[in-house]
Order: sequence, then C-alpha cells, then structure tokens
Amino acid sequence: MKLYNTRSRSKEEFVPLKEGQLRLYACGPTVYNYFHIGNARAFLFFDVVRRYFEYIGYEVTYVQNITDIDDKIIEQAIAENQDFGQIAEKYAAAFLEDCASLGIAAPTHQPRATQVMPEIIALIKKLVDTGHAYEAQGDVYFDTRSLPEYGQLSGKKIDEQKTGARVAENISKRHPADFTLWKSSKPKEPFWASPWGDGRPGWHTECVVMSQNYLGESFDIHGGGIDLVFPHHENENAQAMALTGKPLARYWMHNGFLNIDGEKMSKSLKNFFTARDILAQYDAEAIRFFFLSKHYRSPIDFTRELIVESDKAVDNFYKALEAFELDSLEATQIHSPDCLRLEEDFRIAMNDDFNTARAIAILFDLVRLTKNNKSSAENRLDAARLLLKLGRVLGFFQHPEDRLSKQMPDLSKALIELILSYRTQARADKNWAQSDKIRDDLKALGIEIKDGPTGSTWDQRN
Ligand code: AMP
Ligand code: ZN
Repeated sequence: MKLYNTRSRSKEEFVPLKEGQLRLYACGPTVYNYFHIGNARAFLFFDVVRRYFEYIGYEVTYVQNITDIDDKIIEQAIAENQDFGQIAEKYAAAFLEDCASLGIAAPTHQPRATQVMPEIIALIKKLVDTGHAYEAQGDVYFDTRSLPEYGQLSGKKIDEQKTGARVAENISKRHPADFTLWKSSKPKEPFWASPWGDGRPGWHTECVVMSQNYLGESFDIHGGGIDLVFPHHENENAQAMALTGKPLARYWMHNGFLNIDGEKMSKSLKNFFTARDILAQYDAEAIRFFFLSKHYRSPIDFTRELIVESDKAVDNFYKALEAFELDSLEATQIHSPDCLRLEEDFRIAMNDDFNTARAIAILFDLVRLTKNNKSSAENRLDAARLLLKLGRVLGFFQHPEDRLSKQMPDLSKALIELILSYRTQARADKNWAQSDKIRDDLKALGIEIKDGPTGSTWDQRN
C-alpha cells in the first residue's frame, strides 16, 4: 500500500510499526459550535481509512480527540451566557450525534482534553526540565530553536533573521515561532493549577498527550485537514521529537478542503453550512458519495447539484440490490472470475493512496454486472454480494433493510402497470376524462405518470 506522506511530500510504501496493527490518530473538533460540512470531509475520510484497514485484516486502534477547552469555547460561553463546561458538553454531544447521523463509526477511543490535565502538565514539565520549553510570566512556551528538526514536517524554516526580535503580539516569547504550551488564565476564565500558576494548556500539547496515551510514543498514521499541517501538526511533532527523539507518527495524511465558491469553507469566513443542516436535507450516504467520488487530497467545491447527483448514484447501488433477497447477499464468498478481478481492482485502487474515486467506479462496474442478462444467475448474485461488501468498506449500505424496504414490492408494480394499461386504453378510446382521472388518482398516491411519444411511463415520488 502506498500513502502520500505530507512529511516527505511523496507517496511512500506503508509499513506498520507492528505487523497487522494500525494505530491511527485524527484530530477531532473543538466543540464550540456545530461542525460544518467541510469538517465532515475530514471525519468521513478517516472513517474510510479505518474501515479499509479493517477490511484488509488489520486490527485498528483509532483515536480521535475532542478539544473541550479553548479560547473559542470560552468566547462562546460568554456569548451564550453559560459555563464553558456546559458549552463544551452541548457541542460535544451534538458532534457525536452528527457523526452518528453521517454513518461515521465511533473511534476506538475519543478522549477529551479536560480528562487528561495531569498528563498534559507532566508533559510540559518534562519539556521545561529538558530545556525545550521556558516559562515567562505564568505562560510556558516551546523553544523552537532547541530542536534542529523544527519545521521538518511542514517544510517551513524558522526565519533566523527574526531571532531575538521583539514579537509584536507577545513580548515574552524568545522567538516568533515559539508556541504556547501553557497559558495563564485571566480572571473569570477556567483554570487548572500548575507549577507555573493557574492556567490552561495549548491545543498542540493536548493532541500529543491524547494520542500517545492510547497509541504509544510513536504511531503509524496521524491525520487531519491540510490546514492543520502548520502550525498544529508541526508543533505536535516538535514536542514528541523533543521528548523521545522520534516523530510522533510515521505517516502524516491530510485531506484537501471543501471549498465554497473557490474559498475554504470555514467558520471564520462564515461561508459554511452545518453538517446538521445538510443532513436534514440530504441523505448521509449521498454526502459520503459526494466526498468519496473525488480523491481525498483534491479540493472539492460544494454544490447542492452535486449532492443531488450523488444521491441518485447511491440510489443506483440500492436498485442493483433490489432484485435479490437481502439475506442471500450477506455471504462473502465470491466465486465469479469477473468479481474476483474487480475485488482485486478495488484493492489496487485503495492501496494507491486511497483512490476512492476509482473504487467507486468499480462499484458501478458491479452494478452493471448485477443486471447483465448474458451472465449466469450465480454470477449476478456474486456481483450483488460484492457490491454490498465493498460498498460497506466505503461506509455505504449501513442500513440496507431500511432503504430497500422503501422500494416497492413486485405486486404493487404489477398493479400500477395494470392500471396504466387501462389508461392507455382510455386514451386510445379518446376517453380523456377517464384517462385524466386515472392520472390524478395515481398522482395522489405519489405515482407520477409521464406521457411520451412511445407510450406512458411512471415513477414513484419520494
Ligand atoms: P477544527 O474543528 O477547525 O479543528 O476542524 C476539524 C477538522 O476539519 C480538521 O481536521 C480540519 O483540518 C478539518 N477542516 C476544517 N475546515 C475544512 C474544510 N473546509 N475542508 C476540509 N476539511 C476541513
Ligand atoms: Zn490535533
């Protein structure tokens, strides 16, 4: 398997630290608001990474943090006139709810920053004791010049010119690139006691502690959106390097942005739609399809038209399964040579830095095979089984019984065809009143009739 590693800016062969095991960490949300559909791209993508590794036989430990103490949470608490803990709890609960609605499987561990405060303080103390951090007026900063490897992940170099220069926003820093590990609290702000006085930790330290707690000093993959490469991931990695001499993770994967009118969707630009609002209008699997039909590193422009099209595409997956008994599709043993080849192609696509766009094209090949009249019944059944199995690897078909049961049973279809034939006869007899009545009565039942040059067709409105 080849993965694009941000650290080397190239595709690298993936070699796990422990054979058969994947240790994966992806940055979760700061819970001060409902998350937007751009954030959902990151959460959905790493859900697929996790699902795919499980499918190829890995034992996966997937950790995603929840940042529940942060300046933005404190600001929102003031805006909503509530305690910061209540705000964090409210939006953390909403985050979990929306992820479940998006069909994102719960990570193995989902720690919160406020639950690991003693470990965070211990880590900062170690950095101070080893000369990688310094205290200034109750704040603690990481000394970036103490680490020759600083900048390695993002490819940024510390500007030596500025060394020792006065930093406009903060005169306590020794160097502009130095970043906050501990921040002293102002009156009325939440705080924890520490050797440097009352305060709260910086975001970059929280992720180091929460990842290492469950995954060890150094783990396989660290993920997040591309905006996190610098400074967040650079600064996470710097702390780990300073403490252990090893990078925090071996592979750093970053998804591209969801844009809107060519600009990054973001809370600060106020050009966002919450995942919650979008989920109220569109099916979760349509949203998943919308993202996975493009490569994860490419930017995507948000348009409603594309989500509507994605919904139709997902519908075609379900329509392909409709002709089979759901129970008969659960078997995973596939024998048809065409299907075996397509499963291999699926793996080749996914092993090539998660080419989900190609993987989805393979699902459509399977859709076609399920309908191929020249193929034997066994082969068509195999294609449907494989469609279900591989679709699930990408997170589709989470509740096939719900969606398939909405499809119309065969008898209803036969009855509509029968009624339609009466209408065709009425039209042939120029009995317009009768033909219109049949059309209107069916419409009231949600059946839309379209008259065309070659006859009448019908469709069921959702
Ligand atoms: P945040 O809560 O801002 O830290 O974001 C949570 C995750 O969403 C991070 O992995 C971000 O990099 C990612 N993210 C934020 N905005 C976008 C966007 N417009 N498109 C894709 N990913 C994003
Ligand atoms: Zn993080």
